[in-house]
Amino acid sequence: MSIRILVAGAGHGGLTAAAILAKNGYDVTVVEKSPLKSIGYDWHDVFTLDTFDFVDIPRPDPKYLGTYDGDAFCGPEVGGFVPYDNGHDPNTISMDRKVLINYLIKHCKDCGVKFVFGTEITEPVMSGPRVIGFSTKGKKGKKTFYGDLVIDAAGMYSPIRSNLPEKCGIVREFSDSDKIFIYRAYYNKVECPDFEAQYKYLVTCYHLGRPGIDWIDVDEDYVDILIGKFGPLTQEEVDEAIADLREHDPRLGTEVVRGGEFVSIPIGSCIPKIISDGLAIVGDSASMVLPITGSGITASMKAGKLLASTVMADADGDYTTETLWSYQYRYFKSIQKDFMPIYMLRKVLTALDPDDVRFLFDNIVESRLINAATGGRVTDIPVSLILEKAIVGLPQAKLMVNIAKAALSTGSGTAVAEKIPSRYEKKAVDAWMKEYGELLGIGNA
Ligand SMILES: Cc1cc2nc3c(=O)[nH]c(=O)nc-3n(C[C@H](O)[C@H](O)[C@H](O)COP(=O)(O)OP(=O)(O)OC[C@H]3O[C@@H](n4cnc5c(N)ncnc54)[C@H](O)[C@@H]3O)c2cc1C
Repeated sequence: MSIRILVAGAGHGGLTAAAILAKNGYDVTVVEKSPLKSIGYDWHDVFTLDTFDFVDIPRPDPKYLGTYDGDAFCGPEVGGFVPYDNGHDPNTISMDRKVLINYLIKHCKDCGVKFVFGTEITEPVMSGPRVIGFSTKGKKGKKTFYGDLVIDAAGMYSPIRSNLPEKCGIVREFSDSDKIFIYRAYYNKVECPDFEAQYKYLVTCYHLGRPGIDWIDVDEDYVDILIGKFGPLTQEEVDEAIADLREHDPRLGTEVVRGGEFVSIPIGSCIPKIISDGLAIVGDSASMVLPITGSGITASMKAGKLLASTVMADADGDYTTETLWSYQYRYFKSIQKDFMPIYMLRKVLTALDPDDVRFLFDNIVESRLINAATGGRVTDIPVSLILEKAIVGLPQAKLMVNIAKAALSTGSGTAVAEKIPSRYEKKAVDAWMKEYGELLGIGNA
């Protein structure tokens, strides 16, 4: 009898694991809340093209791939732009989210994965400490799915992770400080031949003094707007932020031509435990996101491949905490360790006040620092540049000390992630999870 794998939600990492496992003879079913025709989001995302090579999925047709060249940062007022240049890296691409998710689903189907769309998962089904399936509700009523392994790819508000019993030792809720709340919409573009634009894509930090980032990205046919705050976001705040952007850039029209959704991204660090008996968590449900930029597509797809190879290595099909641990171990050793410096820096940046941000933009921020902070290369910043900035920053000594502390702590974050035990031995793993959890300021469950 073939082994039954259930994937909760058509998240990127779950689809990646599903395709590999189905190709290798596993009986894989993905259960997704949305109907196929409405799956995915109404916007473009930026990630790296070689992600497809890493997970053995053919690259999509180039006609679906756009470029991403970065542009300018400022804050908290719109103005005084600091240019940003990612070196026109051809590996950094942008892709329509609906096209991407449909492409992954088609690939899964070609590999033999079965799909159940329009069916909402409500909670995991347990047998003692083991996850053995999940309950669902759909147009045809309630149904329970059973499997040998459940892969949770249902995103940040996953009903699997959030409803696990405490004994699984898995974080069920993310605090508001570990999320960014977002409104994103494409507006019509107004032709303004007399307007002298200094940017195509502008990111405003702490716009109007509220912690977060807002962007305006002026495309050929539309204007992409993102209003993102570290804390709950109201329609009134969105309207105010968009009105301010429009005042500075008349190309931003008033008609929403696509999207217009309130969403959120986990920008904390990966949760301390992503596996349990009969369960593996992947993607946003485990907070596998680069903490400052909110990028999670590459990490979740790579994690999907690590998970699939762990499943295939478990020849007896036990899928216990012990056998699945190799997935968590390899995720931390190969991906999470590089996210840790950004996470440590993010903790300081999200706690700044608007005057600090104004001071930093007036005196400190420059392209090389933005490149390092957004690209995951904080440790590459030259010492000479740090010293130069420290001198300029003397009038705001307390702020600079906090930033210096964060910079110094980036190495310790990586060190803790790298210390993860290679085998699941409860005592050693509990000690490691305690240390990692303390770094994150969270306990287990
Ligand atoms: C505005 C915004 C912009 C972003 N931009 C980028 C970017 O440019 N680059 C990048 O790399 N990342 C970006 N991200 C992050 C990225 O979306 C995620 O990190 C990435 O998609 C991984 O998430 P996921 O696939 O695990 O979950 P999701 O994308 O959230 O997918 C989860 C799936 O599970 C389904 N689901 C949820 N609940 C249930 C349920 N109860 N029953 C059944 N199914 C369910 C959902 O319908 C969905 O299909 C962005 C996110 C947002 C919100």
